[in-house]
Amino acid sequence: MKLKDQVALITGSARGIGREIALTFAQAGAKVVISDINAESAAKTAEEFRQQGFEALSFGCDVTKAESVEEMVNNVLDKWKSIDILVNNAGITRDNLILRMTENEWDAVLSTNLKGAFICTKVVSKPMLKARKGKMINIASIIGVMGNAGQANYAASKGGVIAFTKSVAKEFASRNITANAVAPGFIQSDMTDKLSEKAKEEIFKQIPLGKLGSPKDVANVCLFLASAEADYITGQVILIDGGMGI
Ligand code: NAP
Repeated sequence: MKLKDQVALITGSARGIGREIALTFAQAGAKVVISDINAESAAKTAEEFRQQGFEALSFGCDVTKAESVEEMVNNVLDKWKSIDILVNNAGITRDNLILRMTENEWDAVLSTNLKGAFICTKVVSKPMLKARKGKMINIASIIGVMGNAGQANYAASKGGVIAFTKSVAKEFASRNITANAVAPGFIQSDMTDKLSEKAKEEIFKQIPLGKLGSPKDVANVCLFLASAEADYITGQVILIDGGMGI
């Protein structure tokens, strides 16, 4: 029970990697806040967690809207008194080649992936600074380290998340708040499930370990970073990519 009685807020956690992180934290004893732009699916996920005996609250919250984040955080503090762990996971893609990419596609990705992380960090840092403790974990991507044709907006947002994480780590270290990023590579998801065998083979050629990662692979590293075992680690970026970034 590495996170016994800790309160963890995970953005974009109704489904996908965020859901797996929330489940892993709940299994480690945390009370989890399932926060997602889709209120209905967040409520459904939280209900599934409660049925398994875990403590879970849900909120419909758009990370790009400061008022929406503030309202959620105030509600969590009223109910559970603290927020000990924040995972900035909510993220989107709007892929296109640069010559075809619209400003809307650029803005949407930068707004959700980077500005959203800034807003949530700013709002959640207040109770953490007061408590003089906290763990912040940002979900970046291998694309933010290596770049990728057709994903200039996504790469810029995730590269920004990495630089942002290092700045947060420096700014809040004196208050015992750590900030680290994880950078997943190709992770099994709705998107990768739809790929043809041939497309998967092409992807596997780029991955030394020769297989996709799972949401659990990402959640396990987040659990470590959120636990006391990682108390002396801050400002780091951990690649969870089967060696793709070597
Ligand atoms: P996903 O399945 O699309 O889940 C993302 C969740 O975030 C969805 O529930 C989505 O809601 C929610 N969301 C979108 N915009 C939001 C907003 N403005 N405010 C709050 N919630 C919002 O994605 P995933 O594959 O699990 O990815 C999770 C994170 O890992 C992302 O940051 C992604 O960039 C990163 N990542 C993923 C991979 C991968 O291979 N999957 C690799 C590297 C990094 P809706 O359901 O309504 O859209």
